[in-house]
Amino acid sequence: MNPDSRGFYGQYGGSYIPETLSGPIEEVKEAFEKFRDEKSFKSDLSYWQKEYVGRATPLTYAKRLSQFLGGPKIYLKREDLTHTGAHKINNTLGQILIAKRMRKTRIIAETGAGQHGVAVATVCALFGLNCTIYMGEDDTKRQRLNVYRMRLLGASVKSVDSGSKTLKDAINEAMRDWVTNVKDSYYLLGSALGPHPYPQMVTEFQSVIGQEVKDQILNKEGRLPDQLIACVGGGSNAIGLFHPFLEDKSVSLVGVEAGGLGIKENLHAARFEGGSVGIFQGTKTFILQDQFGQIKETKSISAGLDYAGIGPLHCFLKAEGRAQYTYATDKEAMNAFSLLSKMEGIIPAIESSHAIAYIIKEASNLSKDKIVVCNLSGRGDKDVETAIFYSNKEDIYN
Ligand SMILES: *Cc1c(COP(=O)(O)O)cnc(C)c1O
Repeated sequence: MNPDSRGFYGQYGGSYIPETLSGPIEEVKEAFEKFRDEKSFKSDLSYWQKEYVGRATPLTYAKRLSQFLGGPKIYLKREDLTHTGAHKINNTLGQILIAKRMRKTRIIAETGAGQHGVAVATVCALFGLNCTIYMGEDDTKRQRLNVYRMRLLGASVKSVDSGSKTLKDAINEAMRDWVTNVKDSYYLLGSALGPHPYPQMVTEFQSVIGQEVKDQILNKEGRLPDQLIACVGGGSNAIGLFHPFLEDKSVSLVGVEAGGLGIKENLHAARFEGGSVGIFQGTKTFILQDQFGQIKETKSISAGLDYAGIGPLHCFLKAEGRAQYTYATDKEAMNAFSLLSKMEGIIPAIESSHAIAYIIKEASNLSKDKIVVCNLSGRGDKDVETAIFYSNKEDIYN
């Protein structure tokens, strides 16, 4: 489904931006609308998806896990097998192909944990575009390896030491840069959020996940699955899986947010549990905010889910009853992380482990003839050190 012409999905979404950004965003919107259906754009995109990203990714039947849990047949969509090891590359590839057609020579992005920054730096290297990544100073210290990766890939990483020295300050700096350098620069946003047209554009580029799942499951099982499950940070891997199935009402959709240390003040990142509607980073959506509209602190063991806002289309799907949302705690996710590793020889990203945690909890409520597809949004190699700290009961939040 597409948003209306102003970028709204029901009451959610839109484009709440300062005057200075309206020109640049309009330019992105026009380019996206112009190129998205162009034949040469589509063939270019599918060429790089195949030759560089490694698509189509497999849909693996997790036989031992299914038998162990004694419930439905569980299939895993293997985004962990893409180049760079997570679904983020689907979006950065799509957007950089738009930027190139806009004749931009420079890409700007912000990153929190560094995963989006690495995906952006990767495609910039591939196409020889200049790349500037803004990152909060505290995050650059916590994520030194990703800073090094980005620099290795040729990106310039700018450490932001204003405000809280984390993601939201990095976003402010990146926006300032964009407004000043819009002539040659493109702003590459990392999840299905922000002002219109970004949620729509990111949804479209990630929908390759669900499209492949549909073909693959029809091939393997001769029918659609009963349920799709994905973790939800900003919401891009989940919406990419769900979107091609929105009209297939027999398929239930489940998004899993980060329950952190439990649903208590400032200890989680489950927007639908403790959040309310507000305007955040250019879009009207559910956010974790206090009574004065100040953004609350969030906590999750997974960097990719540790975010105060969620993509607007998820709010609409929840309001319509088309998708359900729940959460998994750090503890449940880390149990899933080690169970999947042992059962299938697949170390999942801690983000994806939240989705696995849901199926572990729910398997006994589903009969053996049911089929579920769980999105493995990324691989867990990046998370092994966190897992060591966690199992040693060290403070993972410092
Ligand atoms: C960034 C990330 C996520 C969360 O982002 P979404 O936009 O919600 O998909 C989930 N899994 C992995 C592996 C990630 O890197």
